[in-house]
Amino acid sequence: MRTLISTILLVVFASVAGAKTAFSPEDVEKLLSRMTLEEKIGQMMQLESSQLGAKDAQGVFRLDAAKCDTLLGHYKIGSLLNPPCGYALTAAEWQQLQQDIQRLSMKYIGIPCLFGLDQNHGSTYTRDGTLFPQNINVAATFNREVARQAAEATAYETRASNVPWTFCPTTDLGRDPRWPRQWENFGEDCYLNAEMGRMQTIGFQGGGSVNGGFAAIDNCHIAACLKHYLGYGVPRSGKDRTPAYISPAELREKHFAPYLAAIREGAASVMVNSASVNGMPLHANRELLTVWLKEQTGWGGVVITDWADVNNLYTREHIAKDKKDALRLAINAGIDMVMEPYDAHACDLLKELVEEGKVPMSRIDDAARRVLMLKQRLGLFNQPTQRLADYPLLGSQQFAQQSLASAVESMVLLKNEGNILPIAKDKMVNGKWSNCKFLVVGPNANQMRCINGAWSYTWQGERTDEFASQYNTIYEALCNEYGKDNVTLCQGVTYNEKGKYWEEHVDSGYAAAINGLAANADVIIACVGENSYCETVGNLSDLQLSDNQRDLVKTLAKTGKPIVLVLNEGRPRIIKDIEPLCQAVVDILLPGNYGGDALAGLLSGRYNFSARLPFTYPSENASLCNYDYKKSEEVGTMAGSYDYNARITCQWPFAHGLSYTTFAYSGLRVDKTHFTKDDVLTVSVDVTNTGQRAGSHSVLLYSSDLIASLTPDGRRLRHFEKVTLQPGETRTVTFQLPASDLAFVGYDGHWILEEGDFLLTVGTDQLTVTCDTTFTWPQANK
Ligand code: BGC
Repeated sequence: MRTLISTILLVVFASVAGAKTAFSPEDVEKLLSRMTLEEKIGQMMQLESSQLGAKDAQGVFRLDAAKCDTLLGHYKIGSLLNPPCGYALTAAEWQQLQQDIQRLSMKYIGIPCLFGLDQNHGSTYTRDGTLFPQNINVAATFNREVARQAAEATAYETRASNVPWTFCPTTDLGRDPRWPRQWENFGEDCYLNAEMGRMQTIGFQGGGSVNGGFAAIDNCHIAACLKHYLGYGVPRSGKDRTPAYISPAELREKHFAPYLAAIREGAASVMVNSASVNGMPLHANRELLTVWLKEQTGWGGVVITDWADVNNLYTREHIAKDKKDALRLAINAGIDMVMEPYDAHACDLLKELVEEGKVPMSRIDDAARRVLMLKQRLGLFNQPTQRLADYPLLGSQQFAQQSLASAVESMVLLKNEGNILPIAKDKMVNGKWSNCKFLVVGPNANQMRCINGAWSYTWQGERTDEFASQYNTIYEALCNEYGKDNVTLCQGVTYNEKGKYWEEHVDSGYAAAINGLAANADVIIACVGENSYCETVGNLSDLQLSDNQRDLVKTLAKTGKPIVLVLNEGRPRIIKDIEPLCQAVVDILLPGNYGGDALAGLLSGRYNFSARLPFTYPSENASLCNYDYKKSEEVGTMAGSYDYNARITCQWPFAHGLSYTTFAYSGLRVDKTHFTKDDVLTVSVDVTNTGQRAGSHSVLLYSSDLIASLTPDGRRLRHFEKVTLQPGETRTVTFQLPASDLAFVGYDGHWILEEGDFLLTVGTDQLTVTCDTTFTWPQANK
């Protein structure tokens, strides 16, 4: 069989030339027609790379001939994931490992291996690559180009590491701040997630796919994987990987939207939500995996499970009696690749299922075909590995600058009482200039781990300070910005870096120490928030910022010195009681390796703020909401004997974000006030920089459906565009708004645009447009 495949591959090789390989489904068909059942099943399996070897006495991972013989030779495993030792390798180390793996894969199987990594905010697992801000920061920029550029740089560095596939972008909606993965997504809004996920897909894959078609992916780009399909981000309990209950209308209208947008951009693969929605685990949900994702879109990509999730169908979900039964459910539901990750015996079970007629051969062919098509799309048959020398931009100054610029654009200025920020380097005292003095406090002040968050060199990011010592913490960056002699560090509270992410250490004498040091300081920079965590490890039971950290800020307030509160967090931790004690608040979220530098430049005024919150910042534990809440969620006090009411509260609303300058809107206008479903509305607004310095600003267009047959959302984000304006400059921002974007999914699951009035809003400017004819889409997607 190997010789046969090799002969066919020669034909495949002959048909591809250059970096952009011709994409030929016929070649894949020929290959498929000659493969055995075992070989096809092998293509559907993914194991963790550590299974191919072991660490030597020095802790270096080495491939083991016997293990390779079993896994590649016998089981014909077609895909691997993860760094073998669990931490980032250098690009050169990756190069070597991948060359060895591809050589063995070609020797044993005759088909190149598809290796996947979570390169989740830049080159997570390439040690000499570049880390960018996390997705929650990308969302806060409200700038699509930030998403595309970071993904493109990541693709380049990942390909330089000989790895052709990332498990990114993450386009679950981060609609519940209790959920520990909120920061991996683009915030709470489905349009923002769709736009950023779409742009990352273009960045990773290089673009060129039209209407869901599959353009070839060249050797500077990699395959994207949208995750985690579908409805992962709103577990009822707020805990990771627990059940969600979402109405079918909301599931399609909001949760499916980012997936559809990226699929239409040619996204190569989709990873499945580990939990259940409406009682059905996603890994067994044929309607969502096969009907919605594949049949209704015509999408030909690969659906991969999340980590060990087939097993979870019987160990956790209890919808299968054993592993074999679970495999039957998952493969029949539409899973194409099983992230096993430790047990190749699953191949035997799947073979038995086919032989027993419990999984049809057509399903195996379909799944294997999808995997082979992806390998061919990536040019792996033609050139399974790359040469490091061809990637001079790996870890370059260019990517570093990009990462810094995105960090600057992603930090949200939430409060700036009396314009305390920016803080000049000098101040005038008794007619003489002297340096401004800083006291820097808090557990997030001097660690690289917390400013990167997880998926940084390791899964949980716990070794970041070891790997990223060449970058600046907040304290170090402030020293560089203002001069070391002017900046004093006294953390007071620190994280237990060896323990659980939430464990803290409180210095017993910190109150006295801070009192003494504050006497000399003009400003206190309090850096608080969270340490890095990821997935279930990051579950919490109280959304408030820890007692220790809030007590720390209360102690600082007693000094009488102004406080700049720096929040460094993956989700909004409640700070209601300490916010009034602080004159300025900046949420830097998880800005990456250049986060310290970006913050220092923003505080000193070298840069200007331009980010907006991509989520609603709650003020109370039991009052969580999203910006698009239904009007009926907020009920005023009723007349009569019963005092019925419901309050919507928040610390700061979705899209809140200040700047060192101010912007004003005027002249909101639309080219037509009446429309039907095929019209495109051209909406324009003039935006003026009314302040004293240059600034960037994202203009947001919202719509409100005033009367609808299903209780309408109060408002929905429909468009955004970021502009940079000099003081006094005015620019017209024009949005093209397809009328179909104003449709919603009705109670019967169909998209419908209903006649009646819609309010379009930019800032406080509003106008009304009217839909003249109701239209219901006969097909599932618009
Ligand atoms: C996570 C995924 C990730 C996968 C592979 C899982 O635990 O949920 O986001 O892509 O592991 O590392």
